[in-house]
This record gives sequence, C-alpha cells and structure tokens, in this order.
Amino acid sequence: MSLLLLIAACSGRCPDGTSPDDARAAAILDLSGAPDAPICFGARDHSVITADGVLLLDASMDDPSAAARVLHLLAHRGPAPPPGPGCVEASLTQEAEAWALELRARARMGLPADRYPFELSFRQSDDIGLIARWLREHPDGAGHVDAVGAGIARRCGPQTTGSRR
Ligand SMILES: [Zn+2]
Repeated sequence: MSLLLLIAACSGRCPDGTSPDDARAAAILDLSGAPDAPICFGARDHSVITADGVLLLDASMDDPSAAARVLHLLAHRGPAPPPGPGCVEASLTQEAEAWALELRARARMGLPADRYPFELSFRQSDDIGLIARWLREHPDGAGHVDAVGAGIARRCGPQTTGSRR
C-alpha cells in the first residue's frame, strides 16, 4: 500500500472507495461559495451526502459541475420531513428546491443545460414544480438522476436510514 493510500485509509473521514483531495475540495468549495464541508472523491454514479454530512462526489465531474452539486447536497443537511402523512410530498418539494439550487448555479457558471433530463426545461421556466413532478414520475431516475423518488418512498416508510441524494 502506498503512503498516500495509507494516509487516506487512516484518515477515517472518507468511506471505502473514496478518498480526500484537499486541494480539489478547496477549489470546488471556492467555486460554489459554500462554507467548508468535508468532501471525498470516488468513482461513483451519483454524488450524495452521508448521514454524517460528508459529501461523496463523483470524481469524474468537472469542478463547476461538482460545485453546483455541492450546493444541492448541502441543502440536505437540515432535517428531512418525518415519516408519515405528507412526507412524500414534503420530501419531493425539498428535493426539487435542492435541485433548483444546483441548476441555477450551473446556469450562473455557464454550464450547458444538458446534464439532467429536466435541466433545459427548468432553465427556461425556473419552475421548481416541474422538477418535483419529474422526480415523482421517474422514481427510479434516469441519466444522471438517481432513484430519488424511490429513496423518498423508502425514507418516508417505517425504515429511515441511509444517505440522501
Ligand atoms: Zn437531492
């Protein structure tokens, strides 16, 4: 094991399959304008925030896309709607608002409106409701959107653990 891997393994901050990159994390946080936050990078299909507030980013994203994603994920640091009546609707709204932060940041940074299936429609309308509708109608996700709707259904049920997306 190389010294670098040893340090990563011993840092205790990044879970298996991810590793820290402090220089890149600082550059991404600077681009995003977000406050300091723990970031780990790895080969991941989707970027998430863990229950402990660690951002696990897809290392293949360009820095502006990652910065926009950070704003989305940090919006999930607050409490999730509790399970029970209205949980799904409240969670979809919260999720759509987090996406809106990401999509507006992408627009500000001049990124193309083609990463997510609803990105172009949102950029043209700024209608958060259309994001919530898309997530509801595609619970298993598509493209770069993961199974957010299915995750909400699980979280709003009796079992409420895991990471948020
Ligand atoms: Zn989200």
